[in-house]
Amino acid sequence: MLKTGRSGGIYIHPWDITDEGIDTCFDDLEHVCGLNELFIAAAYHASTFLLPHNPKRLVRWDDGSVFFPPQHPRWQETRIQPVVGECVDTAGYLHRIVENARRRDWGVIFFTVFHYSHSTARAFPAGCCVDAMGERHRAYLCPAHPDVRAYDLAIVEELMSTYGGDGIRYESLGFNTWNYGIVVNKIDVPPPPRAQFLLSLCFCGNCLQRARDEGHDPLPLRREIREHLYETLARPSSEWDRGPADEAWARTVFDGKLWQYLEIRCNTVTSLFTAVQEIVNRYGGAFMPFGARQDRSVMDGLDYAPFYPHLKRVSLGSSGATLDERRDSLRHQVRAVPEWTEPEITHNQRTFQSMEALRDEVMAAREAGIRHHAFHYYGMTPRHQLEWIGQTRAAWA
Ligand SMILES: [Zn+2]
Repeated sequence: MLKTGRSGGIYIHPWDITDEGIDTCFDDLEHVCGLNELFIAAAYHASTFLLPHNPKRLVRWDDGSVFFPPQHPRWQETRIQPVVGECVDTAGYLHRIVENARRRDWGVIFFTVFHYSHSTARAFPAGCCVDAMGERHRAYLCPAHPDVRAYDLAIVEELMSTYGGDGIRYESLGFNTWNYGIVVNKIDVPPPPRAQFLLSLCFCGNCLQRARDEGHDPLPLRREIREHLYETLARPSSEWDRGPADEAWARTVFDGKLWQYLEIRCNTVTSLFTAVQEIVNRYGGAFMPFGARQDRSVMDGLDYAPFYPHLKRVSLGSSGATLDERRDSLRHQVRAVPEWTEPEITHNQRTFQSMEALRDEVMAAREAGIRHHAFHYYGMTPRHQLEWIGQTRAAWA
């Protein structure tokens, strides 16, 4: 079960572990870093990784995939099957990792990237978002699609049941920006914020149907957005509307039809999150990350209220130019954390120039009342910075 009271964790890709050997890697995490919790990437997006202490490769080009073979009976009912990563060499691949971690009494949380997936989008293009012009996204699955939702829930059930996870830490489980994760290097002048927001809207068959199910005809809005984008983006960029894509704009533009559509999207995503929360609850696990909020944010595309009573950890982040300001900002946030949950923070050790700077930052978070600390990805971290992490272990002692 999810560690309570205190923990020191690190994000880690399965190949980080198995390229070095599970025992070698975990011995380092235990003795050098002093950690006791893993955020294992169980499903991850395409990227390029620089791996300074990996014995097999310094640079990894990865298409993005899941790092376990599908085993749960739930996969027999899903049309989308997971694209399994090339590092997964046996049926017991992830089992061996988890079992070794459990023998050390470590926490195991699964970091899971859901809808941003080049490989799954390629294997199942019908599940991708479709913009107002009818163009299908090449790397982003739509949360309104029933097959995508079944795929999401099968991943969650697999990780909680087959692998006994302490929780799911999600990424890209809702809708996203129009250019999320896609290479955009041929657009010299990016569209302004409002146009980007309109480009991000999905009008796939399932999104249209959900609008109709809630009593709205989405086609006039789609037509008006299409005409608006063709008309405005063809003009010189000096004439573009540079206003913010904020709530005041979204509520009134297109005679209120955009806001109606955003409300429906918010319901689509909230119901999916609710289904994930129900599975995670069944196994007594945690669904993360959330802040301590309980508002319905149509602009974010999520109603936070249903998840607030189930919070097990609240993710905080500091703000401020000086260490004192950042400590105070965390103190202020810690006070707003409800009593049934605990605050946590993630540090990116790679952004620090010295052990002392990292240690001061981590200890400031502890002084503010945070005793769950997580560090950024193991494999991408040079050895000397792994040693720095070990110098901060008093923060979760
Ligand atoms: Zn859609």
